[in-house]
Amino acid sequence: MVSSSRPLRRTAPRRPAAIRRVLLSCTVALATTGTMTGLAPAAQAAFDDGPAAPAEAPDHIEPFAAYQPQSTCDPVAKPGTQALAQLVFDYYGTGRNGGITRNCSIGGTSEHKEGRAFDWMLSVNQPNERAVAEDFIDWLLDEGPDGEDAYNARRLGVMYVIWNSRIWSSSDADEGWLPYSGPNPHTDHVHVSLTWSGAMKRTSFWTGEAADVGGDSDEPPDSEEPPDDDH
Ligand SMILES: [Zn+2]
Repeated sequence: MVSSSRPLRRTAPRRPAAIRRVLLSCTVALATTGTMTGLAPAAQAAFDDGPAAPAEAPDHIEPFAAYQPQSTCDPVAKPGTQALAQLVFDYYGTGRNGGITRNCSIGGTSEHKEGRAFDWMLSVNQPNERAVAEDFIDWLLDEGPDGEDAYNARRLGVMYVIWNSRIWSSSDADEGWLPYSGPNPHTDHVHVSLTWSGAMKRTSFWTGEAADVGGDSDEPPDSEEPPDDDH
């Protein structure tokens, strides 16, 4: 059922942080109620907490990551990308690995060519797979214990996520989810691109210490946009 899917977060236009937080709380409450009462069994979320981080969080986690586009070609899976893939398969046990690397000669700019992106094959047309994808994305973008926006995405050094014709970018986080117009609508997989620190497994999720993710404050820059041709 279409109505059974939980809404993706952060679709609203830019608002002051305090207001956004209140709205987000309402969304969470509604989503929780929906999960408790309205969903078909196949779509019920069984993953309330999400994967546990192997390292304790520092007092101040990473800021929103900057956009660090592919600039070289080294299609070797990087350790943080591999670890993230392993983490989600261990935890969710659903879908399959659609690949981390891509040959240098294929298509346009893509972090796959540097082993910094992961395609998790999950279909929007399969209720259980869609529920897993949206649980994972909620986990990435949920607030942290001190109200930090996009807590796990920041701790992992996630640069952007593409799913179901929409894109969320750390470097444009205030805009929330935006329409994605690339040639592949990403209705059969979730794409996750990592910063270099994330890809090299140097972020606080893995180490307990905040890494340099190219961002310099808690607010994302407005000027950079990820490519729309990646998949
Ligand atoms: Zn991809």
